[in-house]
Amino acid sequence: MYSSDFATFMKWQRRECANIFNVFFQDTNIITEECIQKELVFLSDLFGLSTPDISFGSDAPLQVELPSSSKDSTTRIKCNICKLQECGFNNKEAVVACLCHELSHIYSLGQSYGYCENEHWEAELYADFMASAIMTMLNAAGGKYRYIIGNGIATRTHPYGEIRQRFAMAGRKFALSMSKGATINLEDIEGEYLLFLLTNTKEINTYLQEHKSEINHAFDSNESLEIDYMKYQDTNLIKQYLLKQKI
Ligand SMILES: [Zn+2]
Repeated sequence: MYSSDFATFMKWQRRECANIFNVFFQDTNIITEECIQKELVFLSDLFGLSTPDISFGSDAPLQVELPSSSKDSTTRIKCNICKLQECGFNNKEAVVACLCHELSHIYSLGQSYGYCENEHWEAELYADFMASAIMTMLNAAGGKYRYIIGNGIATRTHPYGEIRQRFAMAGRKFALSMSKGATINLEDIEGEYLLFLLTNTKEINTYLQEHKSEINHAFDSNESLEIDYMKYQDTNLIKQYLLKQKI
């Protein structure tokens, strides 16, 4: 007997997949650094961006570092394949969707429509919509990506899972409405995103208002928490260890 959670999980795995059997075969694939590098070159080209430098073994599953000065124009991506897999992005297409999401952020850098009261949320919904639309147009299975983002909680930087999944689904729906083999036009996808954002703005802003306190206190996995260890008693082993490290 499947639990209902597992049944939902399976539903998303099978759904919207180019070939439902891929899910089972590709989940057993070993995701290599070479394969990620190759996909990054392909996707950067699709966005008209120069390929970011990528390094492996970071603390976070996937992280973008923007150019730090006018002299250094290199965008860097830090990736940890094991951590991505731990988060559930355990097939090649789910990882490619994540890359696509990050490249959408780089592509739209500095652009804000200003409809959503939280600009981070607006940027995330944009990246989810774009990634999902592009994956669909590439005939790649994005079900797992959409399943995982749909399970997230609302934080200061990321919207609640249900709305992220809704935007990703809308991106997919738009891509499906295009004729088969149509070239990917990013401006068209952006235009559709904007329309969808407008129809959902009121709900998003109401959610932000009603959940202000829990959003501000939600733990965001992208943020590191500073622990005030000095407030612990001197007998606390963590405090003793950290004091020792300081000396
Ligand atoms: Zn993002």
